[in-house]
Amino acid sequence: MDTGTVKSLPGRYCNSLTEYSRFVTREVAIGDVPMGGNNSIRIQSMTTTDTMDTIGTVEQSIRMINAGCEYVRITAPSIKEAQNLAEIKKELRHRGYTTPIVADIHFTPNAAEVAARIVEKVRVNPGNYADKKRFDQIDYTDAEYQGELDRIYQKFSPLVKVCKEYGTAMRIGTNHGSLSDRIMSRYGDTPQGMVESAMEFIRMCEMMNYYNLVISMKSSNPQVMVQAYRLLVETMVAEGMNYPLHLGVTEAGDGEDGRIKSAVGIGTLLEDGLGDTVRVSLTEEPEAEAPVAIALVNRYVERSRKLEVRSRKSENDIDYSPLTIHHSQHSPYEYRKRHTYEANAFIGDHMVPRVVVDLPHANLKDPSVLNDAGYIYSPLLDKYNMGEQSVDFVYLADQLPSFTFPGNLKQLYNYSTWQKLADKTMCHPLFSLQGYLQADDRSSPLNLVKIKPADIDSDEFGSLPLDKSLVFVLETDALHGMADQRTFFFKMEELGLDIPVIIKRTYNFETQDSGLKTQDLQLFASTDLGALLVDGFGDGIWIDAPGIETKVITSTAFGILQATRSRISKTEYISCPSCGRTLFDLMITTQMIRSRTSHLKGLKIGIMGCIVNGPGEMADADYGYVGSGTDKVTLYRGKEAVKKNISSANALDELISIIREDGNWIEPN
Ligand code: SF4
Repeated sequence: MDTGTVKSLPGRYCNSLTEYSRFVTREVAIGDVPMGGNNSIRIQSMTTTDTMDTIGTVEQSIRMINAGCEYVRITAPSIKEAQNLAEIKKELRHRGYTTPIVADIHFTPNAAEVAARIVEKVRVNPGNYADKKRFDQIDYTDAEYQGELDRIYQKFSPLVKVCKEYGTAMRIGTNHGSLSDRIMSRYGDTPQGMVESAMEFIRMCEMMNYYNLVISMKSSNPQVMVQAYRLLVETMVAEGMNYPLHLGVTEAGDGEDGRIKSAVGIGTLLEDGLGDTVRVSLTEEPEAEAPVAIALVNRYVERSRKLEVRSRKSENDIDYSPLTIHHSQHSPYEYRKRHTYEANAFIGDHMVPRVVVDLPHANLKDPSVLNDAGYIYSPLLDKYNMGEQSVDFVYLADQLPSFTFPGNLKQLYNYSTWQKLADKTMCHPLFSLQGYLQADDRSSPLNLVKIKPADIDSDEFGSLPLDKSLVFVLETDALHGMADQRTFFFKMEELGLDIPVIIKRTYNFETQDSGLKTQDLQLFASTDLGALLVDGFGDGIWIDAPGIETKVITSTAFGILQATRSRISKTEYISCPSCGRTLFDLMITTQMIRSRTSHLKGLKIGIMGCIVNGPGEMADADYGYVGSGTDKVTLYRGKEAVKKNISSANALDELISIIREDGNWIEPN
């Protein structure tokens, strides 16, 4: 059987690092909605109802379909739920919906084999399809390792046979937190382990001439997820494969955090031209997910169209720029912060990335204008209180405030205005490249110079006076702006320049309504800035979005830094989106836990609906709150269950006691 045409990209994980170019995968048939090839990037989500509730599941599926889902995934924890998929499918078809259904399988090959005869696609998790995890560290000899693979083949091949016979597609969906003991023992919970976990199953499918596959590499940590997908593509291409990719950040949480985390992971890969279907996992109603996925994906529909019109490039003309990752010290498969110097203790080197916001049109007569930048003014005490999300710099352009600024908040002015300031303490100039070269007064300990990626090849750049007061503010007006800015970092590295860089992006949402523009800002800025931060680029970020409230910009900026793990300013919740296995109301529980723990900066709390998949999926969390039965919760410290099956009425108090015992509790203000 044909294995599809694979464009050879030796040592690469994407077509181009400089132009938007979609990595073309083989087309996979899934009912009447094929995926991969030249098909659009498909949108999907998963129901949260009990699979035995036929009408509830059908009605929720219809809401999801109406919101934009092109596939609907439904959990099948055992044979009875798998069988009930037939009733759900019948009712959906009866109501006129032909949307393909995907059965979600964990641990139950017999349920998978039933479901594969009914639905258009099954999802299996290679970490737990044929294995129960004991978290044992075993040193396998090669023969023992092969023996394990043979055992898995015996369990897995019947499902492949059914899929072949019924024309059912399969997703091999690896999860960072639920890798098998075998994979963990040999590779650890690394991106490489995730890739190998999927590759073992793919190779078995190919041995049986079954190619109707889609692959995913999910993690709740966007950095790990991005690295795993990139490594997967490189590995697949090396083995002559090009299966479609299902993109998702698992347990992303809810609200702003969930959107930002999802966009950092999914958006980064879409920027690389990877991804054939997107599922955004939010701890919200499932119909809230599709609009987020659509907003992420639509940017590339637009981008491809514009690029096509502009250059009429054929696939063979893909830009294989000589400027590749292999010419820089940068690796797309591991995090390494770009080395920069410390600019006079303000920015760079080991310091956390700085946050800049604009206040040029604000009312600079009232100190409370700084509340939205994280400096809460008390008129009574005539004093500012700083929080965890207080910005580092405000840009005032040419406006002069008529009140005293907080002592640690740095102000940026256009050079001509800065020059005239009587007191320049904590005030710094922002120059154009030309302006900096011509300036007669650069006495500030910090000089910020606006630059665009193409400037690096200019004569002006070559004549820049270099000293440790210089920091670049990197802007772009390119259609594929992230790649444009990434090129600048590669070139800086090639030139051996360690000048700190603040990444600036400007967004214009003025024609959109307010709800949408807030979400779009979160998604687009997280994609564009997050994609650079996950690769270790950037000493600061600056989001310029006229028409959007400063407080939204401030919290988006800190959210992006948190999601990329480059600056931690709040508690992190790793909460699953819930599904038919969920044993309590995830949304209410998450809100309840958040209301009592949101002041515990840096702590990661996993909130999982079920025990089956929970402990593994929250591998990244410090503490876990996992459903273990009706009204029963098991609490975890890391991967260890420390209180089992306690009443949900006391579970939050018990969780706080454990945090307290560990010395990690602080009283809220
Ligand atoms: S952890 Fe949550 S989403 Fe995952 S299987 Fe359990 S209930 Fe479903």
